[in-house]
Amino acid sequence: MFEKLIVPMQCRKFEARLEDFLDGVANPELRRHLAECTNCHAALEDSRLAGRLLRQACDPAGEARPAFVADVMARIQDEKARADSPAAFWLPLEFLASRLSLTAAMLLLALSAYLVGFAPRRTPLGATSQPQLTASDFPQPPGDPINNEEVLQSLAERNDGR
Ligand SMILES: [Zn+2]
Repeated sequence: MFEKLIVPMQCRKFEARLEDFLDGVANPELRRHLAECTNCHAALEDSRLAGRLLRQACDPAGEARPAFVADVMARIQDEKARADSPAAFWLPLEFLASRLSLTAAMLLLALSAYLVGFAPRRTPLGATSQPQLTASDFPQPPGDPINNEEVLQSLAERNDGR
């Protein structure tokens, strides 16, 4: 009777250490308590089972785990080495700058294409009473050499006919 009142207090004390015990921390006091307390022994078995299930859920292959840990450790080492180097601060900025200049170039290209291709034919807003502007209203670029040649040839032919 007296014992039943005492044990829960003790169990609460040991409960917090169960996890450490599972991790392999030596605890003779807890080990002794586990030997005589079925309550805590069951709790330990439960958490041991839960840990096993969790590991299996996270890593069904089982054997891949060391490789995964090694990979993570290598990545951490890599990150640390990069963070320790003096140039580390500038790397993201350089990346950003290259991205920005590329974007700016693309934007400029798109804008110039838009201006050359579409802007002259745009009708100004609020100009509904005015006649629609067409491409012929704007000064045309000089014709290419082939066209000029054709014009000269037709003129020459007309002169020959007379
Ligand atoms: Zn106990």
